[in-house]
Amino acid sequence: MFPAELRDKQYVWHPFTQMQDWVSRPQKVIAAASGIKLIDTEGIEYYDGVSSLWVNLHGHRKAEIDQAIIDQLGKVAHSTLLGLANIPAAELAEQLVAIAPHGLNKVFYSDDGSTAVEVALKMAFQYWQHKGKPGKQKFIALEQAYHGDTVGTVSVGGIDLFHRVFKPLLFTPVHIPAPSCYHCKLSSDPATCGMQCAVRLEQVLAEHHQEIAGLVIEPLVQAAAGMIMSPPGYLAKVRDISRKYDILFIADEVATGFGRTGKMFACEHEAVAPDMMTLSKGITGGYMPLAATLTTDEIYNAFLGDYAAKKTFYHGHSYTGNPLACAAALANLRIFSEEKVIEGLHCRIDAAAVKLKAIARLEHVGDVRQCGLIVGIELMQDRSRKVPYRWDQAVGANVCEQARRLGLIIRPIGDVVIFMPPLASTVSEIEAMLDIIEYAIRETAETGSRECSSMQPTDL
Ligand SMILES: *Cc1c(COP(=O)(O)O)cnc(C)c1O
Repeated sequence: MFPAELRDKQYVWHPFTQMQDWVSRPQKVIAAASGIKLIDTEGIEYYDGVSSLWVNLHGHRKAEIDQAIIDQLGKVAHSTLLGLANIPAAELAEQLVAIAPHGLNKVFYSDDGSTAVEVALKMAFQYWQHKGKPGKQKFIALEQAYHGDTVGTVSVGGIDLFHRVFKPLLFTPVHIPAPSCYHCKLSSDPATCGMQCAVRLEQVLAEHHQEIAGLVIEPLVQAAAGMIMSPPGYLAKVRDISRKYDILFIADEVATGFGRTGKMFACEHEAVAPDMMTLSKGITGGYMPLAATLTTDEIYNAFLGDYAAKKTFYHGHSYTGNPLACAAALANLRIFSEEKVIEGLHCRIDAAAVKLKAIARLEHVGDVRQCGLIVGIELMQDRSRKVPYRWDQAVGANVCEQARRLGLIIRPIGDVVIFMPPLASTVSEIEAMLDIIEYAIRETAETGSRECSSMQPTDL
């Protein structure tokens, strides 16, 4: 065993991981990377098929981002944003406002997707206090939603497996059904399902809007739920209803932002301008932890006043607005415009779609969902009768394990195989990765034994 693997097993506690299982199996240790490939301590290369958990956009060791961080290191690595400004944070805020949906004019920094959403929730809550509507304290969240792992964001989450144990610690949102066409209990027709879910929201708001501060939603794709796509028109409809009943509309673009869906932000697909938008994951091109909560002048202005009015937003983190991370984010945005990244996505998305058509025909594939370069392939024991595999068969994990042996790193969500390649992946790389996935599904979905898996059936 390599020393790093020994040390890892001795000292590291991994996220979303059953450590008893982890330490009992051989584990890969990443030592380096190049382009869209990760390289382990044995020198074996793997495609980074989930973009290092949905963050990497332009590949690893991208010269422009490397250089931007090096240049910033020659100036200052970190200074606080509490009572001080710094150059990259100011410049990045200007650029984020320039590319964000209309009306989002202010940027509040933090460090992760969870903190960006946490900030949005607290800001929305305090906003109504300042507006003289202190009764508006509750949030609406969608079933199956995922907004992070801090206590506030778990409160507005809807994934029972992750959240159940913490229930006594959480505040209670009003959950509304999420339109998920494949699993829909209301209707198998996407448009009908979306409409019925919107009607349900309207019923809740008609009755309770005086108690509701805001609604938080993952636009177009409920990612951690297993890449569940909302039907066209649903997002815009929810936005309209939120406006009608005077609640804040919070778009959590942590997963969907920065080109993932084929446009810079998922909200653009339905011309939605939210009251708040949360960004993280891709914001630095997958280099460094950084997040931003964007909001409107209306909300920002509600926090203005003299000190005696006590309207300050009392929230902040040690590394908020970190100059190195902001410099990486600026380089990321420069790459988007210089390399015309968004324009170049169509052919990649189309190439994936062609391959996915073949995968959709496999015997144990129940549903294939794609939105841009976000893909979920749902495995089924019996696809015609929609009978899932038994939980303890860990079929999703086994397929990913097999893919890893074939040189592709992916992670399942339950029995949904997730494919989320870096945006920079070429058409032939995308095809190669999907060939591996197809092969791995053929090889493993039939048998699905727990034995050869190093992952928990429930791992994210
Ligand atoms: C990943 C994710 C988060 C949490 O981000 P972290 O950086 O892991 O804290 C929040 N919202 C959505 C939609 C996400 O996909």
